[in-house]
Amino acid sequence: MPRYGPADSLKSPRFIGPSTFARLPHVVELEGVDVAITGVPFDTGVSYRVGGRFGPSAVRDASMMLRPYNSNLAVAPFGVLSCIDHGDIVIVPGYIEPSYVAIETAVRSIVTAGVVPLLIGGDHACTLAHLRAMRPHGPVAVIDFDAHTDAWNSYFGQKYNHGTWMRRAVEEGLVDVEHSMEVGLRGSLYGPDDWLVLRSELGLEYLTTEEVLGLGAPATAERVRQRVGTRPTYLTFDIDVVDPAFAPGTGTPEPGGLSAHDVLTIVRGLTGIDFVGFDVVEVIPTYDPAGQTAFLAANLAYEMLSLVALRRR
Ligand code: MN
Ligand code: MN
Repeated sequence: MPRYGPADSLKSPRFIGPSTFARLPHVVELEGVDVAITGVPFDTGVSYRVGGRFGPSAVRDASMMLRPYNSNLAVAPFGVLSCIDHGDIVIVPGYIEPSYVAIETAVRSIVTAGVVPLLIGGDHACTLAHLRAMRPHGPVAVIDFDAHTDAWNSYFGQKYNHGTWMRRAVEEGLVDVEHSMEVGLRGSLYGPDDWLVLRSELGLEYLTTEEVLGLGAPATAERVRQRVGTRPTYLTFDIDVVDPAFAPGTGTPEPGGLSAHDVLTIVRGLTGIDFVGFDVVEVIPTYDPAGQTAFLAANLAYEMLSLVALRRR
């Protein structure tokens, strides 16, 4: 059985070799793999800024700085888990539904191999295809970190884009709504019901950015853990939940958000959850002058890996 880990950055410099997530080997086969980090370079579902197709490569470049030991969680994720960079999914630029088929097919092959996918987007529309690929796990509890509900019914008369995937996923029976939660809602809305319909129509729970800041990071993580309980859980992280001061490289920025430290602490606090998949989405390198958004995204992915490692250690 093969076992895969990153190149040792004390033996060869970080900037040596092909750019893969955390200097992991690029491997296509899934035998002997626990977690497959996979790029989803899809940005046809956006309503405003484009460029998320370059998110996976930016996050890979930033991830070369990740070191083997997570001191906050006291775990060495690559010591526990066999991890690979599975490459990018071959999407169809300009065509949402054919891309959904390509993404679902690729992610499903990871899921049926018993491997946890950690997907690097791409715009948030791709999360509908990620959740379709989770069907072998049954409806999953979804934790959605996002400034936006992504539960609107349509944009420009169209059903599929980055502002509607959550509603579509609930309609398709992919979401265990009683155990799901959105975290970090803020910003101007189309009307007073935009957030309320999450509870009244969809059965989802949520915390606004103001509520998260009032509770603090540890209590927020506890609320989320209570909500999902023991259910198989999918975590989706829209980087726009973070304040644009910390994460400017995104498509639909909303001022007045959570800090990088806030979100790292909250994600790190989600210990003990049965995670079956993750994504980090909406990173757009064009608007990321110092690469800080990509660095944060890479570190969030590292915390996610660490959560899986903690449960399996
Ligand atoms: Mn979103
Ligand atoms: Mn958003």
